[in-house]
Amino acid sequence: MAEGVLRRQAQRESAARTYARSLPVVPVRARGMTVEGADGRRYLDCLSGAGTLALGHNHPVVLDAIRGVLDSGAPLHVLDLATPVKDAFTTALFETLPPQLAEHGRIQFCGPAGTDAVEAAIKLTRIATGRGGLLAFSGAYHGMTAGALAATGDTAVRAPVAEADARVTRLPYPYDYRCPFGIGGDRGAEIGARWTAHLLDDPKGGVQPPAAMLLEAVQGEGGVIPAPDGWLRRMREITESRGIPLIVDEVQTGVGRTGTFWAVERSGIVPDVMVLSKAIGGSLPLAVIVYREELDGWQPGAHTGTFRGNQLAMAAGTATLRFVRDNALHERAEAIGSRMLSRLRGLSAHHACIGDVRGRGLMIGVELVDTEAEPDDYGALPADPRLASRVQHEALRRGLIVELGGRHAGVIRLLPPLTITDEQAEAVLDRLAGAIEAARAVPTSGVLA
Ligand code: PMP
Repeated sequence: MAEGVLRRQAQRESAARTYARSLPVVPVRARGMTVEGADGRRYLDCLSGAGTLALGHNHPVVLDAIRGVLDSGAPLHVLDLATPVKDAFTTALFETLPPQLAEHGRIQFCGPAGTDAVEAAIKLTRIATGRGGLLAFSGAYHGMTAGALAATGDTAVRAPVAEADARVTRLPYPYDYRCPFGIGGDRGAEIGARWTAHLLDDPKGGVQPPAAMLLEAVQGEGGVIPAPDGWLRRMREITESRGIPLIVDEVQTGVGRTGTFWAVERSGIVPDVMVLSKAIGGSLPLAVIVYREELDGWQPGAHTGTFRGNQLAMAAGTATLRFVRDNALHERAEAIGSRMLSRLRGLSAHHACIGDVRGRGLMIGVELVDTEAEPDDYGALPADPRLASRVQHEALRRGLIVELGGRHAGVIRLLPPLTITDEQAEAVLDRLAGAIEAARAVPTSGVLA
């Protein structure tokens, strides 16, 4: 059965399919961290729906919440009308937000993907500031609809900045292991911050005052790169003092993943806009932005969409937010994440191909490098995407699902659910260690997964 399903998928689905290429699994059952394929094989899932499943698959509180809505006879589709289910979700979400945002904040329910909430955040700040440009960072990932807004024919809603949609100024993100300034550490991050401030203040710098700065507190797809707290505070200070709204994209980092409920809490910064999706829907599609009420200057219908009222996702999301908070799963993520990081660092002492181990909480990255290649001017070896791909393949053979990421797809990413047990964490690391060992043993010309 599994083979037929995979064959038909390859024949019928688009060439743009992603995870399905490197993970030929046909999931038929799942519970917690475990996924069972149609071939009867069981896997530990460290992909978790690209970081969506804070409580793992089919957590009882999530299933109960979904059943509760189904059994109640409530409508499942309501556009953006008020419902008790939505009311409860908003209340639960606001209880988790930084107090300054919760007390003076608004929420906009968006189309059910992170990318639509990013679009909403950009549009909100463009309308509020009357400016078009955007400050964004190297290595950032915010979604796939960058062109969607520019292609929209509704100029009234897009005014006043229709033609400015593509004006993005790219700034350096503090990537310690491959510091763009060759220094790393706090000093490397500070130089990036100075460059940012300098560029904005230089009257001949070529950058118009922007509508917003958009950043991730830990870059996910970019290769699991945590920004230093001091750098985040500098970005807050630079934007605040220049009247630039700061949008923090917490699509992947939110709901306890990085060791605090929201990743911004660690540095103490309060953004003007937060973009939330993935885990807030408790495994079902949901995306919102929350923002300071002063920014709420858009017109009715300025960011509309048919699917903004997914009642099942809101109920599943409420249950997830509450469960994470009541059980302090963010603290659990921090504790078990640091143990996993130290064991991985131990592993790196025995494997020269592990160039860097980094992460926050249960957002962990292992950057693999090519030990045969020449180091660059600053001593760093190039990424090894072929090795990473072999490790992913070998991990799958050992019953472990991992994701690749990073600038060159050379980073093994671990995003286990926050409910991972100590034994599961050990099993993940045993299987990963075995996979690295096996992948290293394959000659360089070996077949890729
Ligand atoms: N922002 C970040 C930080 C993300 O990681 C992602 C998805 N990986 C998105 C936005 C886009 O979300 P979606 O795929 O649901 O559109």
